[in-house]
Amino acid sequence: LVSREFHPADSIIRIGDHEIGGHHVHMMAGPCAVESREQIIETAHAVRAAGATFLRGGAFKPRTSPYSFQGLEEEGLRYLADAREETGLLVVTEVIDARDVSLVAHYSDILQIGARNMQNFNLLKEVAKCGKAVLLKRGPSATLEEWMMAAEYIMDGGNYQVMFCERGIRTFETYTRNTLDLTMVPALHSLSHLPVIVDPSHGTGRWQLVHPMAKAALAAGADGLIVEVHPQPEKAVSDGKQSLTPETFKLMMDDLIGLSKAL
Ligand code: PEP
Ligand code: MN
Repeated sequence: LVSREFHPADSIIRIGDHEIGGHHVHMMAGPCAVESREQIIETAHAVRAAGATFLRGGAFKPRTSPYSFQGLEEEGLRYLADAREETGLLVVTEVIDARDVSLVAHYSDILQIGARNMQNFNLLKEVAKCGKAVLLKRGPSATLEEWMMAAEYIMDGGNYQVMFCERGIRTFETYTRNTLDLTMVPALHSLSHLPVIVDPSHGTGRWQLVHPMAKAALAAGADGLIVEVHPQPEKAVSDGKQSLTPETFKLMMDDLIGLSKAL
């Protein structure tokens, strides 16, 4: 179902007034985690003013340490919905547990499957039934074949609104948090009809590298970008080092809009 042989034309995912795939390029932006109502609303206004169409922000966070902030959960989902109401941005947020799928689907427009859960098959089967689009991140050590098969689970379960998200893989390099594998953009476009989004924030782990890699992703043909933006990255509870400020985000967007008429 995922393959181009099954569906030769690019799949277009329609969400509200937006189309993902085909000739449209979307910017999804916002903090790693929803930290407070003020933080998410302030960020939403800033990224919208710069040209983003989707607001990202985690309410359920998959953290390496059990002692790290785990997310505001339903309260965070409500703040995301408030931000959508105020700005018109649509919401993309992660679901980490099959038991929370209907709750997250109630508040959000795109459900994100995080890298750590790419092969959580019960979670994939559950999001297949949720009626919302799914952003499927690549596992940190997943092959292209494994990643496409994970998408196949969601489509086989009846949900055809799936997009891939390249967010970097683990290699021997430690300067960057992950190695952003932009080869996957044209590789997926040749093998699959589904849209491909690139996450240069997790893909590099360093905010200074986000803008150049975002440009590279568009040059490679990405259908959209998902980028972390925080009003005060130095105070962020997670992923501050890879977060743009509203100002650096705006500078990047002005540059990207110049490069891509579709953004
Ligand atoms: C995130 O988007 O904040 C996140 C946890 O991403 P990933 O699953 O790619 O690590
Ligand atoms: Mn993050």
